[in-house]
Amino acid sequence: MIPLQLGTLLVFFVSVPLLITVILALFYGIRSWHRPGRERENIYECAECNHVYAFARSRPMDRCPRCGHLNEAVRT
Ligand SMILES: [Zn+2]
Repeated sequence: MIPLQLGTLLVFFVSVPLLITVILALFYGIRSWHRPGRERENIYECAECNHVYAFARSRPMDRCPRCGHLNEAVRT
């Protein structure tokens, strides 16, 4: 067995979770760069045919691409 000092072990148990946290933070940071476009989308659910669709335009109402019925945005 490799002899380990208490200090080395302590550094290992502190730096590994810290490194994992940094990697996760970078991962979610990079992912959030791509999100602004998606977050501007409005989500609509058609009251006529229950079709769920999204548009990147900021309109309170939009036509269903399937049946043409006007629907209010469910989430903006
Ligand atoms: Zn529809």
